[in-house]
Amino acid sequence: MLKKIGVFKDHQDGSLKSVFVSGEKNIIEMSFLFNKPTMDVLCVPTHHFCNLGCKMCHLTNNRLNKKMLSISYRNFEEALFKSVVTEEAIRLTENKKLLISFMGVGEPLLNLELIETLFKKEEKIKKLLGYEKISYAISTMMPNDYVLKLTELVRQYHKPLKLHFSLHTPIDDERRDLIPSTRLQVEEALVLLLHYRHQIQKDENIMSAYQEFHRTDDPIEIHYTLIKGINDGKRELEILTTLLKQYKIPIKFIHFNPKSGMEVSESEKKWVEYIQEKADVRVKTYTPPGREIGSSCGEFTKHYYHEEIETEEEKEEYLKWKKEHEVVLNKSYKRQF
Ligand code: SF4
Repeated sequence: MLKKIGVFKDHQDGSLKSVFVSGEKNIIEMSFLFNKPTMDVLCVPTHHFCNLGCKMCHLTNNRLNKKMLSISYRNFEEALFKSVVTEEAIRLTENKKLLISFMGVGEPLLNLELIETLFKKEEKIKKLLGYEKISYAISTMMPNDYVLKLTELVRQYHKPLKLHFSLHTPIDDERRDLIPSTRLQVEEALVLLLHYRHQIQKDENIMSAYQEFHRTDDPIEIHYTLIKGINDGKRELEILTTLLKQYKIPIKFIHFNPKSGMEVSESEKKWVEYIQEKADVRVKTYTPPGREIGSSCGEFTKHYYHEEIETEEEKEEYLKWKKEHEVVLNKSYKRQF
């Protein structure tokens, strides 16, 4: 049984983050996002903590000595349910469609067991949560070739799942430095992405379910976060453009939420225009919702993971944040913002 630590609200866009702790004192945080008019979006983790050490991730801290721990299906299901209902177990919205997006703590390819169980239990989840249709998304650093196993699972269970590859630099050496867990070369990862697209697009059942949630029929996308002086140089732009031109994979630039020693790049506009002109692929920019409450890819409520090494100043900062954002989700809760 999970204990709810709190629910926190982003006052700009209404996103809600629910934080739970298991009997073993492991954290699960799930974010309920309201950025799509026709569906609910839940940003969910696959792990209680992640020590893969991506340099731009707000979770990463060399002073922490914590293990990466997979979330069990049982805990996951309980957190899922408690994230979309009030304390009286009333659903917060009336949408019939739900997108479950694995973009929270952890690397989804390293907990495929959870994803497979979720696929198997989908009917139960729909009944439990009151949705008619569920779609999925995964964002992966692609540390290995488990994407082949994911492709099999998606085809076996006929689930509409969009695969987002967090590239963040097209240069292999630089990528290994930024994302130390990666074992694949960039082009090997791109070939796997194309394989996924090919296999999924062959399946009419998957594609018809997929089109109910997405405007295009492309189940793959590259994510890139531009960071000043780290991955926004001319060389990176040239190599990336050449790869995009060759592999024809759409790209989305995700606005970076700065962390110490890493700043937002000012090159986004230039990059978007250049790639659009030279590579002829779909290019989008995106500011993730829930910024105030750390709800997006690579952003978390650090306090719950870093508590043991927090300074007094950081503790005070957390308490101030808690006071500003904590809400009570009971039946009189108003979703307006
Ligand atoms: S970005 Fe994702 S995979 Fe990388 S350390 Fe953070 S949680 Fe782990």
